Amino acid sequence: MSKKRIFVIHTGGTISMEEDKQSGAVKPAETNPLFSFNHLMDEEAEIVSSAPFHLPSPHITPKEMLALKNLIDGTLAKEPFDGIVITHGTDTLEETAYFLDLTLATDIPVVVTGAMRSSNEIGADGLYNLLSSIRVAACSEAKGKGVLVVLNDEIHSADNVTKTHTSNISTFQSPQYGPVGIITKRKILFHHEPARRQKIPVSAVDKRVALIKAYAGMDSYLLSALKELRYDGVVIEALGQGNLPPEAVSAVKDLIAENIPVVLVSRCFNGIVQDIYGYEGGGKQLKELGAIFSNGLNGQKARLKLLIALGAEQPINLEKLFE
Ligand code: ASP
Repeated sequence: MSKKRIFVIHTGGTISMEEDKQSGAVKPAETNPLFSFNHLMDEEAEIVSSAPFHLPSPHITPKEMLALKNLIDGTLAKEPFDGIVITHGTDTLEETAYFLDLTLATDIPVVVTGAMRSSNEIGADGLYNLLSSIRVAACSEAKGKGVLVVLNDEIHSADNVTKTHTSNISTFQSPQYGPVGIITKRKILFHHEPARRQKIPVSAVDKRVALIKAYAGMDSYLLSALKELRYDGVVIEALGQGNLPPEAVSAVKDLIAENIPVVLVSRCFNGIVQDIYGYEGGGKQLKELGAIFSNGLNGQKARLKLLIALGAEQPINLEKLFE
């Protein structure tokens, strides 16, 4: 059987960094250390690689995410590949994975991976994660499952996965639902199918969307300032099932009156938001005021979804989109 062709895109992150043994600082290496293992990758598949940028992931913005999407589309339009692997810093990995999940049209496997330990640390997990990702991208069962995140022998869906630990190598978890598959020495085993996949054609990512977390005693000042600061939308990580302190309600009202969409997610990492409570600031009141309830996404992903939707060429029904 001929080898699968995999397009590997390196974007930076700890997976391509080195620890300075003297200062202990972890920094981007001059040459990506993964390149010295090309022979191991070649054993798994026929690899074509590209390194459009070399950034720690806190430097990645939606502009780089869009550039990645365009690179993938442009490459696939020129030559066929069986799968794509992207190496990325873990801090914002889930955001890039979700952006691509929402916007890429291809159904070939697209896998995003990273590492928690830099390339010259003991127990470095980068090369292992990269080889696992190439195996997943080359696996026909991974087709049509949306963008996948592979680290530490687990396969997660982009819409559910999140970074849960600052340093542990099992940091990527899918709250509530768990991984969609596992990787063993010999096999790639999927046990969940994505129930639905949403696509939004992306045209621009230049709208201004804020993400604000609710807390006990929250008032209206910060939310109201978004209007003066000319934000185009806001996602609020609300309390519990989608409630806010009463003092924050007037700002929600004002923002909606100015046609600035207010999307609610929960600051709980399990469960979904709903219009249940009828007290001042409760979900029922917020829904009646026109707040949009987002179904299960975390704040950073809901923010990207709103950003993409607000930049779309044709107006999108946001309530339906976030259902
Ligand atoms: N701070 C690093 C980054 O996201 C962490 C990592 O890659 O694991 O670039």
